[in-house]
Amino acid sequence: MTITNTRDGLLACVENDDLFQNALLDDPAKAQTAAERRLQASLLHRAENLCLDCPVMVDCLYRAIVQHDVAGFCAGTTQRQRLEMRKILGIHVEPENLDSYAGASPAHQVDHDEVLRLRRADPTASLESIAQQLGCSLSTVKRHLRKARRGEPVGRPKVTVVPPSVEQVLDAYRQVVANRPAVRPVRKAA
Ligand code: SF4
Repeated sequence: MTITNTRDGLLACVENDDLFQNALLDDPAKAQTAAERRLQASLLHRAENLCLDCPVMVDCLYRAIVQHDVAGFCAGTTQRQRLEMRKILGIHVEPENLDSYAGASPAHQVDHDEVLRLRRADPTASLESIAQQLGCSLSTVKRHLRKARRGEPVGRPKVTVVPPSVEQVLDAYRQVVANRPAVRPVRKAA
């Protein structure tokens, strides 16, 4: 089953990859002027609400905290917030070898070999069409191809202690993110 949360059948972070990968979202220090800070707040608000409405939010959050140390805005959190949550949980996850990753849910994960297979199957096909077939963003396809070109390993990062439960991750989320008045509570998984 494909899990989607948009009319066009894509996860919001895929359909809005420009928003989710906007540098202002992930690094508060990048907003230098009052206008940039206003823009940052508005982008954050939009992205947070899209994640809170996402049917795989809880799963995506768990994976983004416990299994993948990804860059960028993901599961309603910035990279800095995820780091803070891991400190609360007492876990350390080795950084993912990708420079960005919009969404860490299984519904969104892209099989590295599948990207290469599609590329080999039709070298003339555009990267956009490969992204469309895989239901991911163009930048995700590019990152996988870049990794293959560089011969970098693709493997799951290690958590150095016993993984926390979903409830513990949600508690850490509440402490770091959800208690801010502007953020709605995370939707319960179906
Ligand atoms: S980042 Fe995760 S929670 Fe947010 S829209 Fe994408 S899959 Fe859903």
